[in-house]
Amino acid sequence: MADDRAKLLAGFIEPLRVRPGSKVKLARDFDPGYKASFLTKKDGAAVLEAGVGVLAEYQERLAAQDTWGVLVCLQALDAGGKDGTIRHVMSGVNPQGVRVSSFKVPSAEELNHDYLWRYARHLPARGEIAIFNRSHYEEVLVVRVHPELLDRQHLPPPAKGKGVWARRYTEINNWEHFLAGNGFKVVKLFLNLSREEQRIRFLKRVDLPEKNWKFSASDARERQYWDDYQAAFSDMLTSTSTDWAPWYVIPADHKWFARVCVSAVLAHTLIGIDPRYPVVDAGKRRDLAEARALLEAEAPRGAAADPFAAGLTAGAGQGGRARAGKQARKQREALAKIRAKAARA
Ligand code: AMP
Ligand code: MG
Repeated sequence: MADDRAKLLAGFIEPLRVRPGSKVKLARDFDPGYKASFLTKKDGAAVLEAGVGVLAEYQERLAAQDTWGVLVCLQALDAGGKDGTIRHVMSGVNPQGVRVSSFKVPSAEELNHDYLWRYARHLPARGEIAIFNRSHYEEVLVVRVHPELLDRQHLPPPAKGKGVWARRYTEINNWEHFLAGNGFKVVKLFLNLSREEQRIRFLKRVDLPEKNWKFSASDARERQYWDDYQAAFSDMLTSTSTDWAPWYVIPADHKWFARVCVSAVLAHTLIGIDPRYPVVDAGKRRDLAEARALLEAEAPRGAAADPFAAGLTAGAGQGGRARAGKQARKQREALAKIRAKAARA
């Protein structure tokens, strides 16, 4: 079942993945307005809902297993839809298992450290999904487009001289390789927005009072660097999509389709990790049996010793909905097995 879902998702997201080693030219290779011809907006809602379900289920297992962590890096130009994507795609996931960090203009303290320091402080723990709303990739994007930002980083001359971007790509690839080897999956998503769609979304922010807070005049001014950003994104995708931390380019002009894609990539990643609930060993079973005996002994007079188990037994005889009955029987059998094992332990 999981294998089928994984195959289906893999096929769907394959065209979005940047093949490691391939040379990317955004305008030529990826269409921001793309949406799969076989998917209507209505179907999209159902797919998104399924994706949200998969995420919720697997995140719980991820937390229980406590071995792997997931880092999701979200990059986009302004109005690319990062905030909305996070809100929709993660809507079914237990907030305890997810951490979102947004990276803005760095503080004086942050500028006084190596350029990966502030990102490293927000990495996920094992069992967690961390989402970077903007990420360490700003260090080869906005910092590249505005070289005066590099000047503010207190770097020694060799670290800001010729070849600085190629060196940063290598450093970032190595950092992510290290993370991957330690059990942290890195997934990188670039929401690819067209210049015209950005113009329309900015106007919406200007026109609607409740959206005004999201807009600053500098966002519009930044549009004059559009081509520089496209070049920086293209070079970043070319140089930092790796087997251990691939980039996915998400067509972002249609919000609903972008969300379906993001949810598919994340579901595919988690299914790939295939986290499992820890196996209950003999020692733990003994502990459980002991705990049950104690709890049963505390039953008030007239109450069932174990109402939960009693409920399972009672539910079985009454027919009811076939599915519920089957489920109850399964649970009952499982319970019986566990009991037998516990007795032997
Ligand atoms: P927003 O995410 O729209 O609230 O804006 C955050 C701003 O911080 C954007 O304009 C980013 O370009 C800027 N920013 C993020 N990271 C860096 C960085 N490392 N250096 C300089 N500016 C940054
Ligand atoms: Mg902004």
